[in-house]
Amino acid sequence: MGQDLPAGPLAVYIHHPFCLQPCPYCSFFKRPWSLSAQENYLLSLHKEAELWEQRFGRRIQASSLYFGGGTPSLLKAEDILRLCACFDLGGTEGVSQQEEKREERVSLKQRDRGTEDFSTMRHEKMREFCSCRVGLSAGRVTRNAYRVTSPEITLEVNPIQITEEFVRELKRTPVNRLSVGVQSVRDAALRYLGRRHKGESIAGRIRLLRDAGYDNISLDLMYGLPGMGLDDLKRDLEAFLALKPEHISCYLLSLEEDSPLGIMTAEGKSPELPDDESCAQQYALIRRVLREAGFQHYEISNFARPGFEGRHNLAYWRSQPYLALGASAAGWLPPWRYTNPCDLEEYSQMVAAGELMKGAEELSEVQAESDEIMMGLRLLEGIELTAFEERHLHEFGRGKERERDKLLKMGMLEIEAGRIRLSSQALFVSNAVIGELI
Ligand code: SF4
Repeated sequence: MGQDLPAGPLAVYIHHPFCLQPCPYCSFFKRPWSLSAQENYLLSLHKEAELWEQRFGRRIQASSLYFGGGTPSLLKAEDILRLCACFDLGGTEGVSQQEEKREERVSLKQRDRGTEDFSTMRHEKMREFCSCRVGLSAGRVTRNAYRVTSPEITLEVNPIQITEEFVRELKRTPVNRLSVGVQSVRDAALRYLGRRHKGESIAGRIRLLRDAGYDNISLDLMYGLPGMGLDDLKRDLEAFLALKPEHISCYLLSLEEDSPLGIMTAEGKSPELPDDESCAQQYALIRRVLREAGFQHYEISNFARPGFEGRHNLAYWRSQPYLALGASAAGWLPPWRYTNPCDLEEYSQMVAAGELMKGAEELSEVQAESDEIMMGLRLLEGIELTAFEERHLHEFGRGKERERDKLLKMGMLEIEAGRIRLSSQALFVSNAVIGELI
């Protein structure tokens, strides 16, 4: 399938499946962390990256890199650097005078503090720093006119790990976006979720990141917790806003039946989750507060300050191809959708045997179209109808005309400026609405 591989830069996801301690609500694939298990796993990850490079017949250019988990912040700086080095992250672009001045300010501040970091080690210094192929493309690179085009490189971070030492190490890597699993600043909520950090420590931890120059921070917030009232949620939202994040992801707690909290709730040993009506009110509050604070609600669960939308995840929602490495990681190289084995042993055997995309499914036109609708309608911008028709050679909703027209009439879907999208009232019940169309 070599000739079918996408030619341009790709969004790349790297999965780290280890956690220090499992959270009782979590049903993701993860394993207890140990250094030796992580090191063995890294060998397999590198092997998989090498196999992909052979399959593509060239170095893979990454438009974004996303380290997700699990708890990828358990990786050492060297591990992150070596993984980044597997991909071509190069390129140059013009820098506006405004950006140039901002970068100079950060650079001077850091020089004074003696904490010069990766982002200020631009251009020529980067070459020495990374024989690791985090590279510059050929061409003229003048300090004042160009900068390294930074692909977005995100690391999911467990707040408990944010210490001065952690941040100092992290600054040696090209990670430029942090997604911090804060969830709440209320200790009762954090205890229920089995998170080890304390609400009062969050501001100090985020300050460490800011002082180190991180200017693209996303915070996770969880709502729909048992006993959570609108006042509790307001407290979380106010505390989050005080941290001035660039991005906030809001997740409704849902418990899989086989998760520890799911089992305890079913046995009556843990309080019930709030009903749908309360959760809908909480979602409405989140939307109102964050939009009033200047955030753009750009995806069902995601809010960003203008220009800080998650570029990596946008590739998913726009059904662009993406590569995924690691156990349980799922990728999309049209028309192939694949999920690596959800088992460390099986995963390492797969790559040791030189295999990739074991059990990949070749999606039919109809399946690919359904996925595109399912993902595209998650974005508040919706789907551009003309482009959709050009791609699929038929109108949006073919075979589901009755459902589409009913949803439009009910005001759950709306068409504006050539785009079809969910209406505000449909956002909280998006799964049901989208389910009607696919
Ligand atoms: S929620 Fe995150 S940190 Fe907690 S167990 Fe799941 S993957 Fe690990």
